[in-house]
Amino acid sequence: MNKPAELKLDTVPVWINGKALVPSGRFGEVYNPATGQVTKKVVFSDASLVDAAVKAAAAAFPEWRDTPALRRARVMQKFLDLLNKNQKALAAIVSEEHGKTLPDAIGSVQRGIEVVEFACGIPHLLKGEYSENVGTQVDTHTIRQPVGVCAGITPFNFPVMVPLWMFPMAIACGNSFILKPSEKVPSASVRMAALFKEAGLPDGVLNVVHGDKVAVDSLLLHEGVKAVSFVGSTPIAKYIYETCAKTGKRVQALGGAKNHAVVLPDADLEFAADALIGAAYGSAGERCMAISAVVAVGAAADPLVRLLEKKAKAIKLGVDMGPLVTGQHREKVASYIEKGVKEGAKLVVDARAQQVPKEGFYLGTSLFDHVTPDMEIYKHEIFGPVLIVLRVKTFEEAIGLVNRNPYANGTAIFTESGGAARRFAAEIQVGMVGINVPIPVPVAFYSFGGWKSSLFGDLHVHGTEAVKFYTRTKAVTTRWPHQDTPAPGFNMPTLG
Ligand code: NAD
Repeated sequence: MNKPAELKLDTVPVWINGKALVPSGRFGEVYNPATGQVTKKVVFSDASLVDAAVKAAAAAFPEWRDTPALRRARVMQKFLDLLNKNQKALAAIVSEEHGKTLPDAIGSVQRGIEVVEFACGIPHLLKGEYSENVGTQVDTHTIRQPVGVCAGITPFNFPVMVPLWMFPMAIACGNSFILKPSEKVPSASVRMAALFKEAGLPDGVLNVVHGDKVAVDSLLLHEGVKAVSFVGSTPIAKYIYETCAKTGKRVQALGGAKNHAVVLPDADLEFAADALIGAAYGSAGERCMAISAVVAVGAAADPLVRLLEKKAKAIKLGVDMGPLVTGQHREKVASYIEKGVKEGAKLVVDARAQQVPKEGFYLGTSLFDHVTPDMEIYKHEIFGPVLIVLRVKTFEEAIGLVNRNPYANGTAIFTESGGAARRFAAEIQVGMVGINVPIPVPVAFYSFGGWKSSLFGDLHVHGTEAVKFYTRTKAVTTRWPHQDTPAPGFNMPTLG
């Protein structure tokens, strides 16, 4: 007898204390965006399941914290080997659940693996400071200690890379971790947890729970969670930051973006247009570092728009560019095309006029020219294959425009002028800057993060800022008295 379709679906389990579990309760649906079909169910965790994950992480913490950093690094190296061996398999999961093309998915997994390479150097990164004789016969040193149970909440657009921004560094620092990946793309996180176990990670050090606001709130309100890393949209990032501030947790919450590329008239326009096409439409525009607004300065505008038009029309759907993540998201992105037309922007390339595969959540490329800052298509993050062009007369106007935008994740300038590029890097109020580099995502040994509404908190992810986020510094002042040691005084000690 045929089973009803929903019973044939695999269920993506949670991973608690080194085991995959499928408890009864609520479930969500996981789509293949290229076909539009539901392919799996996923466990939606409630407060009691999250509590079980926190208890497992808390129980595993003391032994992992006391494991020498060198040994933790060796486990990390084995995890690195396994990630490299499984890079294509992980990328295939990313492509199947997110929709990005396989080569794009492979690249994104590679960028995540590079954070694990960096984490292998943890013994060096955890070194403290030492000063001899800060006072008479008094020495001071600092040590970096892990904060305890940490949690990570991640978005749908990088199912492997963004989780890898968080848990390898947290775990290398000696913490235990609970990951709550996006419920739209849950499988890769469980696969990575299984690989980490195979690498020798003790049970309970890394746990994965799935779900929606219920799971997230259970983590945010749990007393056992000491630090929260979040990556996602700006309204939720702000909510995470505020809730963690109220509950006394350490928090870094990375939000959305509207990334501008300024193109000066002296730029190599062919090179700039190629770079902008990849940065705007790659991964169907679902990148937090995607260029979504071009600021064309003076005489650059007309020839640049002509090149962008030609290149945007040449992008092949299903080959160069995959579908959007869900049907709902496709409708939202498409609604901005209608809005832009109504607002009076000039639609140079129209996704609605393009052939799309019958199945799946595909949407073609769109390009708007003559967009102004008061338009909705400029004010909001569209997060899809829609590129807009704003025209300004001068370089100063371009800098002012970028700096007035509330988002400040990434930005780029295209120019042949070293002086202009240097001024741009100095004056622009944005966290990550590219000079003739359209997507300036810093390599793993630098830190990633925006400014203003693109990041709530102080410390960025990966690189040395991750070590600061996932550890607390302790300063130890030492005196070993002997017969010549001056007696401790009654007044405020000056030690000198
Ligand atoms: P999202 O904010 O909807 O979801 C992110 C996470 O928050 C998910 O795990 C989700 O389950 C959870 N969540 C959603 N609604 C919630 C609520 N009401 N309460 C508590 N938790 C909730 O983001 P998304 O749609 O998955 O991802 C796209 C967004 O992420 C874009 O805005 C993009 O710019 C941003 N992003 C930013 C960066 C960055 O580095 N700044 C990187 C990648 C993506």
